[in-house]
Amino acid sequence: MDEKKFLRQCMCCRTFKKKDDLIRLTKDFKTSEIKINTNNEIQGRSVYICKNKDCIEKAFKKNRIEVLLKSKLPEDVKIDLYTVLKK
Ligand SMILES: [Zn+2]
Repeated sequence: MDEKKFLRQCMCCRTFKKKDDLIRLTKDFKTSEIKINTNNEIQGRSVYICKNKDCIEKAFKKNRIEVLLKSKLPEDVKIDLYTVLKK
């Protein structure tokens, strides 16, 4: 069995982790809005980020999420990302 098949790569630190250890951000293919894809219910292009402050802040700093997904990252999604960290 290829373990890597079940792992996803963090867009910031490039570490491969289990899906549960990452936050999935998806650009909704219908609305082009970037959302946190908690239950895999949104379809579209996705990026993964570690559930840690370093990776999330790095992603914000260089607008890497917006560049990768070619869409604006809404302010409320940024706030939600910090909320995820506190859980
Ligand atoms: Zn990371």
